[in-house]
Amino acid sequence: MNEFITKIKKLSLGGSNSYLLECAQGYILIDAGMKGAAARLSVKLKRLGVEPCEIKLIILTHGHYDHAAGLSEIRELTKAPVAIHRNEIGTDLERGLNDKNESTFLYRFIVGIFKKITPEGESGYIINPEIIIDDELGLEDFGVDARIIHTPGHTPGSISIITGDGQCVCGDSLFNIFPGSHYPIIVYDRKVLAKTYSRFEAEDCGVYYPGHGDPISKRMFIKRIATKKRFMSPNE
Ligand SMILES: [Zn+2]
Repeated sequence: MNEFITKIKKLSLGGSNSYLLECAQGYILIDAGMKGAAARLSVKLKRLGVEPCEIKLIILTHGHYDHAAGLSEIRELTKAPVAIHRNEIGTDLERGLNDKNESTFLYRFIVGIFKKITPEGESGYIINPEIIIDDELGLEDFGVDARIIHTPGHTPGSISIITGDGQCVCGDSLFNIFPGSHYPIIVYDRKVLAKTYSRFEAEDCGVYYPGHGDPISKRMFIKRIATKKRFMSPNE
């Protein structure tokens, strides 16, 4: 991935991947992990020689607790404004839940386990963003050639960040934790997610950074998702 100009670094702040996107004015943090994330972020920033105040924006790809429950403490640490899509605000997502889902048996099985192991207080966080995204938002004002696009399906307000040099931080629209599949275990709406995959194909990115697992190459995206998309939306 050395051909990419914009630097993107994966961080684990607990429960999911977060990413640091380098910009002219400092860094943009994408996703805030779970409770305890600020302490993890402090350690990782120190190793990188980055001050918390150099984080100029926090983007939440969506409101699930493993991406957003660490937000309030990270906000306190960095004082950065928060951006999220309108559809993620004031819904059950702020309690870590989808109000509708078309997920698989595997998802329901895993959620059954998570309900037992999720610590008390992990849900019930308030996002209260400074920046509300609708369809698209350019990030030029933050000193980076990138834009946020609306990529629903995993949740109604899932978003992705696409850089000018063809990198895509896609949150949980793609997973990379199971062999042979990049399909998320939680799906709000399968047909809507199929449309999002068509949009990803049109954007033609060279690499996708998922919410869980390692980056996915364009070749693997096409191989796994093109097949899945036909299965997901047979009438389109
Ligand atoms: Zn999620």
